[in-house]
Amino acid sequence: MTFAVAIDGPAGAGKSSIAKAAAGKLGFLYVDTGALYRTIALYLLREQIDPRDPAAVEAALPGLEVGIEAAEEGQKMFLGEEEVTALIRTPEVSMAASQCSAIPAVRAYLLELQRELARKNNVLMDGRDIGTVVLPDAQLKIFLTAAAEERARRRVRQLEAAGQKAEFEKILSEICLRDEQDSRREIAPLKPAADSLLLDTTGETLEESVQRLVEMVEARLREQGTRL
Ligand code: C5P
Repeated sequence: MTFAVAIDGPAGAGKSSIAKAAAGKLGFLYVDTGALYRTIALYLLREQIDPRDPAAVEAALPGLEVGIEAAEEGQKMFLGEEEVTALIRTPEVSMAASQCSAIPAVRAYLLELQRELARKNNVLMDGRDIGTVVLPDAQLKIFLTAAAEERARRRVRQLEAAGQKAEFEKILSEICLRDEQDSRREIAPLKPAADSLLLDTTGETLEESVQRLVEMVEARLREQGTRL
């Protein structure tokens, strides 16, 4: 049997960094599902397809080949043969990902891929609807969040570290807009699963949040008497 930890939360809460480090310590596979939506968004932008146009986006899906590969350095993403891991980390792609992710056909297209990964591996999977829709039977569900200003500060640091220009005010308003889009959409909106535990990382260092997450997973493994 496999063990799944579903981690949902708003943009920039540190889900990826925290979940990736915790997965390493626990020996679980870390799956960043936002990268899947981002890869589709990159394709749409390149093909000049409006990511808000459901009919055009749905028509483009059969031509799409999204690949995901686990690697020591982290998850790698592919569009066909081309590695796009770094290319999907721009503000334009973030916004297009948020827009196209509201289209039911896009979510349906990615659902089975995500479930398959959780069937085959012990996973820490992060996204917006993992505990509510993708893995409703996950053994542990966590809603990971932090105050919006703190999330914006972290995103600025991340972009600067990647050599990109970043303006705090602009990033903060993008984050708030994305949260609103993600929470308001009709399909699979961002919301805590009823049976999720809250992990608020405001004011914590990365190491502290990672440690808390690892402890939450270990406690649940003990409670369930699960040996991996
Ligand atoms: O997590 P990340 O910021 O990379 O996700 C990019 C966008 O993809 C989010 O704003 C959200 O709209 C969408 N997404 C989603 N469901 C997920 C993961 C991401 O709708 N499970």
